[in-house]
Amino acid sequence: MKRILVTNDDGVRSEGLTALAAALEPLGEVIVVAPAKEASAVGHALTLHYPLRLDQLEPRVFAVDGTPTDCVNIAVAVVFKGLPDLVVSGINKGWNVGDDVTYSGTVSGALEGALLGVPSIAVSLKRTRERMDFADAARAAARVAERVLADGLPPRTFLNINVPRRVTHGFKVTLQAKRTHVTSISERVDPKHRPYYWIDEAQDEWEADERSDYQAVRAGYISITPLQPDLTAHRAIRTVERLLGVSAAPARKARRPGPEAAGKKSLGKARGVR
Ligand code: MN
Repeated sequence: MKRILVTNDDGVRSEGLTALAAALEPLGEVIVVAPAKEASAVGHALTLHYPLRLDQLEPRVFAVDGTPTDCVNIAVAVVFKGLPDLVVSGINKGWNVGDDVTYSGTVSGALEGALLGVPSIAVSLKRTRERMDFADAARAAARVAERVLADGLPPRTFLNINVPRRVTHGFKVTLQAKRTHVTSISERVDPKHRPYYWIDEAQDEWEADERSDYQAVRAGYISITPLQPDLTAHRAIRTVERLLGVSAAPARKARRPGPEAAGKKSLGKARGVR
């Protein structure tokens, strides 16, 4: 039987998490290991400076007083005692599209799964003021999860799914949107006359791109973006070599077979573990 780890960043009591776990139930043994409290926008943080507690709330539901990344690691080491067949993180209340994925605890839960060599998926739904309906997102997650459990994913790749409030089209494979980041900080004064600050939701100006996750969800598609942990700006390698006066040609020649061969070896290993 396939073993599925479900986590999130909205916290173990989030309805999105419960809906996701229920939708994945027909696909295997689902075990939830999620943050005890909301951990949205913690990104890929790993807790190293205080002890973490694991509380069993139900037979297959655990809470960790840490981040989604903590949850995935404790799940693998303590709960599963090995790698699960799939990690699914969500369903987040609010989209995680474009550059915002870098802040996302939801996306980082899946990122951590991918780094451990497990096929992983993050799922987010448009946030609405009224009570949110997770049915479409849960169904989409289960459909993608079923395909991924059957066929796997390319190594070091995970999927970021974003679901519109009303799905009017099918799935669309997209790329991460770009936006002009405008920071907005509110300053207030406390009773002791010292200033304090609130980080506001920044104003978003998205670069128009037909293929982007942002435009897909806006148009009613379920957006699926393949993401990877590698943040290297590959197209900038030569520019930076020139910038520093590092001779590009011999270095590239010497380097090229190295990482590729090493990558293939570790891939084999990761597959073996699974
Ligand atoms: Mn969240």
